[in-house]
Amino acid sequence: MTSSPTPAPSIVDRLSAPHRGPVPFSVEFFPPKDAEAEARLWRAVRTFERLGPAFVSMTYGAGGTTRDRTVRITGELAAQTTLLPVAHLTAVNHSIDELRALVGAYADQGITNLLALRGDPPGNPLGEWVKHPDGVEYAEELVRLIGELGDFHTGVASFPEGHHRAPDLDHDTRALVNKLRAGAEYSITQMFFDVEHFLRLRDRLVAADPEQGAKPLIPGIMPVTSLASVRRQAELSGSVIPDDVQARFAAAAGDGPEEDRAAVRAVGIDFATESAERLIAEGVPCLHFCSLNFAKATTEVLERLGLDVGSVVPATASS
Ligand SMILES: Cc1cc2nc3c(=O)[nH]c(=O)nc-3n(C[C@H](O)[C@H](O)[C@H](O)COP(=O)(O)OP(=O)(O)OC[C@H]3O[C@@H](n4cnc5c(N)ncnc54)[C@H](O)[C@@H]3O)c2cc1C
Repeated sequence: MTSSPTPAPSIVDRLSAPHRGPVPFSVEFFPPKDAEAEARLWRAVRTFERLGPAFVSMTYGAGGTTRDRTVRITGELAAQTTLLPVAHLTAVNHSIDELRALVGAYADQGITNLLALRGDPPGNPLGEWVKHPDGVEYAEELVRLIGELGDFHTGVASFPEGHHRAPDLDHDTRALVNKLRAGAEYSITQMFFDVEHFLRLRDRLVAADPEQGAKPLIPGIMPVTSLASVRRQAELSGSVIPDDVQARFAAAAGDGPEEDRAAVRAVGIDFATESAERLIAEGVPCLHFCSLNFAKATTEVLERLGLDVGSVVPATASS
C-alpha cells in the first residue's frame, strides 16, 4: 500500500445519488498555464459548483511544471470546494516508481478517484508512442497498478469510433473490456459528432462482455463554439464530422471573410443540446462536459436540458 487514502465517494456511487436536472452531469477541466488562466478556471469552478455536478475531472498534461500544477490544483479542488475531483493520470514518460509516487501524492490530498490513461506522445498526439523503459505499455497495466496501491476507484477512456492506433473496432473493444476487467469501474468516452457511434460502442461492449458492459459508459460532450474548435476537436479525437453537421456549421459561419461567430456558437449549443437529449433518451448514466475551463456554453446546454440554472451563472462569464 502506498498510503491510506481518506475514502471519498466513488463515481459509481455518485451517479446513483440524487441529482438535479434530468441526468447527472460532470465537468472536465484542464490545468491552466498561468495565473490569469488559473483565475479563469476558478471562476468556472465556482459556477459549476453551484450547479452540483456529480464529479469534476482534471486532465493531466505532458510537461513537468504543468504536472506539478495539476496535482496542486486538483488537491485544491478536493480541499476548497464541495466538488468530487477525479484526477486523470497518464503513463506517458513515467516510470512505474514515478506513477506510484503520483498516486500517493493524490491519495495524500484525499483524491481516490483516478482516470487511468496511457496518454499520448507530448508535442504530437498522433506521433509514435514510446513506452518509458521502466513504465507501462497500456492503460490496462496502470489500472492494475493503481489497484495494487490502495483503495482507489478507477475509470478509463473509451473511444466510440475506435482509438486511432487500434487496427479495428473489435481490437479496441477488447482493449476496453480488458481495462474494465482489470478493475476499472466506468469509462468516459472521447467526444464524438454522431451519437450513433456512442450507441454502437455500447452495443459492442455489452455483446463482448455483459458484466463489463453493465458498468457506466459516460459520453464525453463538448459544446463547440467556433469553426476552429470544431476542426481542432475532430483532428485531436480522430472523430469524423458527418456531412450534415459540417454543412450546418458552415452555413452558420456564412461566406463572408469572417465567420459569423454568434451564429456558429448558437449552432454549437444547439448541436450539443440535441446530442445530449438523444443520449438522455438512450439512458446514459451521466453527461461529461469538456468545459475548456469556461462555464457559459456548458451551462447554457444544461439549462436547455432542464437543469434549473436560475441566477448562478455570472453575466461576466465568457463563452
Ligand atoms: C475521457 C478521456 C480523457 C483523457 N484525458 C487525457 C489526459 O488527461 N491527458 C492525456 O495526455 N491524454 C488524455 N486522453 C487521451 C488518451 O490518453 C489517448 O487517447 C491515448 O492515446 C489512449 O489512452 P488509453 O488510456 O485509452 O490507452 P490504452 O487503453 O492503453 O490504448 C492504447 C491503444 O492500445 C490498444 N491496446 C490497449 N490495450 C492493449 C493490449 N493489451 N494489447 C494490444 N493493444 C492494446 C488500444 O486499442 C489503443 O489503440 C484522454 C482521452 C479520453 C477519452
